Amino acid sequence: MTSPKVPLRAAVQSLPAYVPGARAGADLTAHKLSSNENPYPPLEQVRAAVARAASQLNRYPDMFATDLVAALAVKHGVDPAGIVAGCGSVAVLGHVLQAFCDPGDEVVHAWRSFEAYPILVRLQGARSVQVPLDREGRHDLPAMAAAVTDRTRVILVCSPNNPTGPAVRHDELLALLAVVPQDVLVVLDEAYVEFVRQPSAIDSAAVLAAHPNVVLLRTFSKAYGLAALRVGYAVTHQDLARGVRTASTPFGVNHLAQVAALASLEAEAALLERVDAVVAERERLVAGLRGQGWTVPETQANFVWLATGARTLEIAADAADDGLLVRPFAGEGVRISVGEPTANDRVLEVAAGWL
Ligand SMILES: *Cc1c(COP(=O)(O)O)cnc(C)c1O
Repeated sequence: MTSPKVPLRAAVQSLPAYVPGARAGADLTAHKLSSNENPYPPLEQVRAAVARAASQLNRYPDMFATDLVAALAVKHGVDPAGIVAGCGSVAVLGHVLQAFCDPGDEVVHAWRSFEAYPILVRLQGARSVQVPLDREGRHDLPAMAAAVTDRTRVILVCSPNNPTGPAVRHDELLALLAVVPQDVLVVLDEAYVEFVRQPSAIDSAAVLAAHPNVVLLRTFSKAYGLAALRVGYAVTHQDLARGVRTASTPFGVNHLAQVAALASLEAEAALLERVDAVVAERERLVAGLRGQGWTVPETQANFVWLATGARTLEIAADAADDGLLVRPFAGEGVRISVGEPTANDRVLEVAAGWL
């Protein structure tokens, strides 16, 4: 065939592709610790709800995910008009950027942080303004505030930060909000909030109530264990929510996802018990790694970061040979999700050999 003459947009041509975490091969014996998933399968009542819902797959889903949004409104103590559900919180963030950014606008975010950020920002034609993390892998919020210009439309705060792990403290976030202009949107991405155990954690309800320029992003992919179904949501002032809804893909949350997310909210206590188990394993893993001599940033999420530098790709390849799939960031480090106890035992065994 002859090559197409149709040019891609320059912004698209220059973009790196999103790199998904490695998947297990046919033997399925490897521990998949590359995507920060919940290691436990869905609860029985969630699976049953999905099985029942399968009989309605000939119909479009409820476009506004009304029942799910109503339950989320109760959970967050807000009006349902302030909630927008979408096909994973990554898609919701894309819709937020579509609603607020024009080409040439600036979006300030930490780096290294979630790899989807620069991709989504640049797809929108906006500029990704990257503010380095500090030496402990934490957001440098004063530097982020200083990076705001009159072209800045959005600041993204990832707490806990993927891939390094530390969470922003409530007082730090308030200090940022106090100096950011009122017409700049502050997006707080709390994909891992259920795993946070630090004192002085962000009180997102208080932040939302006091700051109409904040959007909270949450997901069912991590703590709730529904990564395959793709459902996440934004909570914000209803005037802003309306704009995000306008930008959203129609019927973006499929019926099975709506039903499973709702059933998961109803089973929240059982799910949060599993989260406690993951947190306990995280603490064991971090203590074990530090005991071996690793410097591990203070993670509040369901993963740990090892700064393996120039040896990163080699270490990730060796790990795969040893039955561990981790997420390498070439030249920087590896992110390892907390798995079942046997997987974490294996991480401790194998990581000792990398030192
Ligand atoms: C995993 C993750 C998400 C969630 O993505 P979904 O699209 O909801 O699966 C969002 N933000 C960060 C920082 C993440 O690591």
